[in-house]
Amino acid sequence: MKVDTILTNGQLVLPHQGVVPGNLLVNGGKIVGICAPGCTVPAAHRIDVEGKYIFPGIIDAHTHYGLGSADDFLTETRSAALGGVTTVLTFYQNARRYSEVFPEEKRRAEEKAHVDFSYHLCLMKDEHLDEIPRYVENFGISSFKFFMHFRGDEGKYMGIEGTDDGFLYDGLKAIAEYPRAKAVIHAENIEIGWRLRDRLKAEGKDGLEVWTASKPDFLEVESLRRACYLAKITGCTLYLAHMTAAESCAELRVLRKQIPPVYAETCTHYLTHTAESPVGNIGKVNPPLRYPRDLEELWTAVQEGTLDVISTDHVPRKFQTKRGNIWECSAGFPGTATLLPVVLSEGYHKRGLSLMRIAELLSENPARLFNLYPRKGSLTVGCDADLTIVDIDRVREVRAGELGSYSDYSLYDGWKLTGWPVLTMVRGEVVMDSGEVTGTAGYGQFIPR
Ligand SMILES: [Zn+2]
Repeated sequence: MKVDTILTNGQLVLPHQGVVPGNLLVNGGKIVGICAPGCTVPAAHRIDVEGKYIFPGIIDAHTHYGLGSADDFLTETRSAALGGVTTVLTFYQNARRYSEVFPEEKRRAEEKAHVDFSYHLCLMKDEHLDEIPRYVENFGISSFKFFMHFRGDEGKYMGIEGTDDGFLYDGLKAIAEYPRAKAVIHAENIEIGWRLRDRLKAEGKDGLEVWTASKPDFLEVESLRRACYLAKITGCTLYLAHMTAAESCAELRVLRKQIPPVYAETCTHYLTHTAESPVGNIGKVNPPLRYPRDLEELWTAVQEGTLDVISTDHVPRKFQTKRGNIWECSAGFPGTATLLPVVLSEGYHKRGLSLMRIAELLSENPARLFNLYPRKGSLTVGCDADLTIVDIDRVREVRAGELGSYSDYSLYDGWKLTGWPVLTMVRGEVVMDSGEVTGTAGYGQFIPR
């Protein structure tokens, strides 16, 4: 047997099993074999990864393309490749019926993507609920976003209409018809938030801690409890996006035992920054940054399995949009390119989070929960040869200009992170090697799921 590529002398990071030394064989874009170090198989290409770790391709399950520029699929998937990310899931929101706009959106993305991708569709009006069967059966989309914080006038500028609890209830019922589909929830009780905001604004308050004060943790907890209760009533499986708070973790330890199950993610910035971090408007994000106690509690929750996924909520806007006071400046920031280095540096090196657990949080779990598994999220024979090769001891200072994004700043600018991807492979093709993008735009594929 002759194969396309053999990776030799690697340390394979296998979810649930551990780290084992071995060679990995790739042919036709798939993993076709794993053998002991030293095994020789004729191969067109040999890549010696001595001393490096081979992770199943990293997945960023939470990104927002289309908010930066029309070329987000080009720039942000390039940035993903640089960060060792082989598949991205992005939230697509459009006020029109997705049956009208999705095929064209997907076609344009396929022309630009460097890595594989899929979408979560944002449910913004009743017409979207009516079309859920079509999205699942015809488009291969099995996850749908509810914004519990865009209500009343709050979401009107984006075309979000009538998204109250009745809308949520009907939506969960519609999604529950498909046992593998999930409702992705942004949990935040905005009605309380409006009153807090109005008071703080009237007092002339400004700054990052004030943003957090306008959206305290109990807004998240109240909202997630309500969503979980309705999920139980309707039989819908939930995926709670971007958990921020220690109290949310406490609730989840109980709630995630309910049937159908509840899954939850946090994002890198809640694991590294707080409302007290000296980053000014750059740190404005929805939901807001919390406090040191929350940050450490989130690390405990990812370690023990209360949280299933770490993602980024990547928003690729320019630094320019962060100007003004805290109420005026834009929310969100880029994150995909630093997802893996942050988790390796702050999780593995600083807190002893195992590489195996990192492979679960960043690859296997998002793949399983969003129905990409076993094609993605695994290092087993027959799955896509999506690989992220890591130099665990490499120290590199983050410079936003080197991250490939349309965005021109990073929350981690100037941070020295330890543990970086040095090679990214998508379906057997090297798309990043030693910090250089080597793949081509349009190679990335839409993955129905
Ligand atoms: Zn988001």
